[in-house]
Amino acid sequence: MNKIIEYQSMDLELERLNKQKDNLEELKVIDKMRNVVKEAQGKSIKMENDAKSLLDEYNQLKAKYEKQHKEIQRLTNLDVNSMDKSQIYDTLTKINSISSEIFMIERNLNIIINKIGRALKDFETNKNQAVMARNKHKEAKDQYSAKVAQIEPKIAKLQEELKAKEKELDQTLFAKYKTMKNDGIFPVFAKLTNDACGYCRIEVPKNKLDNLKGNNTIICEHCRRIIYR
Ligand SMILES: [Zn+2]
Repeated sequence: MNKIIEYQSMDLELERLNKQKDNLEELKVIDKMRNVVKEAQGKSIKMENDAKSLLDEYNQLKAKYEKQHKEIQRLTNLDVNSMDKSQIYDTLTKINSISSEIFMIERNLNIIINKIGRALKDFETNKNQAVMARNKHKEAKDQYSAKVAQIEPKIAKLQEELKAKEKELDQTLFAKYKTMKNDGIFPVFAKLTNDACGYCRIEVPKNKLDNLKGNNTIICEHCRRIIYR
């Protein structure tokens, strides 16, 4: 009985170490930063597309502007002396209308230039966030590796010691131990403490305490663990 109890306490320590390894806080940071980087990458793709359409829009407006500008130049260079009144009137009307169109185009060009400026700023902010997240990710990963490098040899050593101890155990008892552990009942053995199950603290009925004489064990009615004295 003592041997399997000793085995169990080492097994519990192994479980504790494995849990510690799987729940290192750095893992959360690594995960979080990985998501931040991923998000920033997605944003940057969207931003690039947005920037491309802004640039297209800008170029189209610019071409339109230049075309209208040339037209105005052509109209203003016309020889007024060879025109009659109505031709002059028509030309002036055209110049007027193109002028107001140019005014609108200039206004829209300014809006787009502002938008491009803002987009560049957003792009920069997004890039900086990604760089920061990548640095934090690396930092957490290094810290995680360092911690794991400390825990893993302890785990390997315990596993080896447990393996060696297995041979000395009562094999029937050990088989039962493994079955119960597999069923999620772990620890398997609980020491009787203040006449109660050492695991779930539920009191053992007085008439059952007598069954714990010598090396005998009983099953806890509440948590199904094997109670020993
Ligand atoms: Zn119990």
